[in-house]
Amino acid sequence: MIATAEQQKKGMYENVMEQFHKTADTMHLNPNIRKILGITNNEIIVHFPVKMDSGKVEVFTGYRVQHNNALGPYKGGLRYHPTVDVDAAKALAMWMTWKTSLAGLPYGGAKGGIQIDPRNYSMGELERITRRFTYALGENIGPEHDIPAPDVNTNEQTMAWIADTYMSTKNPSERSQNQHVVTGKPVGSGGLEGRDRATGYGVYLTIKLWHESKGETLKGKTFIVQGFGNVGHWVSRFMEQDGAKLIAVQDAHATLFNLEGIDVNDLFEHSKPRKGSIKGFEGAKEMEPEDFFAIPCDVVIPAALGNQITAANAHKINAPLIAEGANGPTDNEGEAILLEKGITIIPDILCNSGGVIGSYFEWLQNRNGELWQLDEVMLKLQKKLTEVFLKVEKMVDEKDVDWRTAAYMLAIARIETAYIQRGIFP
Ligand code: NAD
Repeated sequence: MIATAEQQKKGMYENVMEQFHKTADTMHLNPNIRKILGITNNEIIVHFPVKMDSGKVEVFTGYRVQHNNALGPYKGGLRYHPTVDVDAAKALAMWMTWKTSLAGLPYGGAKGGIQIDPRNYSMGELERITRRFTYALGENIGPEHDIPAPDVNTNEQTMAWIADTYMSTKNPSERSQNQHVVTGKPVGSGGLEGRDRATGYGVYLTIKLWHESKGETLKGKTFIVQGFGNVGHWVSRFMEQDGAKLIAVQDAHATLFNLEGIDVNDLFEHSKPRKGSIKGFEGAKEMEPEDFFAIPCDVVIPAALGNQITAANAHKINAPLIAEGANGPTDNEGEAILLEKGITIIPDILCNSGGVIGSYFEWLQNRNGELWQLDEVMLKLQKKLTEVFLKVEKMVDEKDVDWRTAAYMLAIARIETAYIQRGIFP
């Protein structure tokens, strides 16, 4: 079922806290570190006015939550969506801390955005909203302090506006040193070749590695994808290239299925002029949204929003593997049902970490004044992700825990070590 805005954000913070405490118990986390990691460092709320096309002024509210920076500058996306609020940003920021730590990056975790439905605004209005939001955040973001990236309903254009606005507030001599204030920029404006596909590629790679460890390939496997945006579309492309078949796809507008297979490129071309909507695609039939997750297949890929797989629909899932392209798509009750059924979940902090790894490469590229080639980027991404995947897999086997708990244990242990080595100031 396509969850309502309320359902999507409901309980996300409770979810992430419960996951954290469960892992802290399992790994006997130092109690002082548990206290520190159980809170968010900063919660920034800004209100700012923007002139609309009609000449009227609207006031918007923007958020940036910085969870923890023990391992390096805060890092995380900005989303434009009606579900954005402090609690949602707190949950997503905490997930980012675990994700960057698990990937072995020198970053902490943050998240934020604006509570709007961007479909209600013109391009010019979105540009002014973005630029004014950046200005309102001021020095709460910065290339060595907090580095935003794209997320739901934001893209490389949004990042280009943020970078330009932030750089414009600097002295001319310092401007170019601030380009890495955001990642996910267009290639022509300091972006990284391949950053656009990095998250989807990572989701695909973890699915491929999981099958390989069972002696299987993706040839002939069937998969369904919720969300056909940046992540959903790219993962579908890579899966298809490797011989897997997309048999159903759902977005905010429609739910489509075709057991013979949906051509990913044709669907993408159909959605492009329709602001990304898959509705009306002739190569598949429309079906009831409620039945989407019940379609029997080899891999379910939720790549839209949080809290999509819950106690209400987890029992219907008929697939051995769920690969979490989205952040927090499975709530804890849903997860318990899936684990009971013997379904493996590759957790978001591993599954979709290709995005933040790609962002790290972009940041390094800007910082060092370098330009990396696409093949070089994809190779580095593959190497890094495989290394992380194998570490988590080893932990699953050694500790006999589920994949999420294993990934959390590795991520939290790295931060615990940093705190213990450094001590607490003063
Ligand atoms: P996007 O805005 O490009 O696409 C979002 C997709 O979800 C669209 O197809 C939209 O129609 C669909 N959608 C929205 N509401 C829906 C609903 N109620 N039911 C079904 N579909 C719905 O966003 P994206 O960048 O692809 O991000 C998708 C998810 O992946 C988010 O959870 C995001 O946090 C996560 N993620 C993204 C990146 C990245 O690099 N873009 C990295 C890591 C994680």
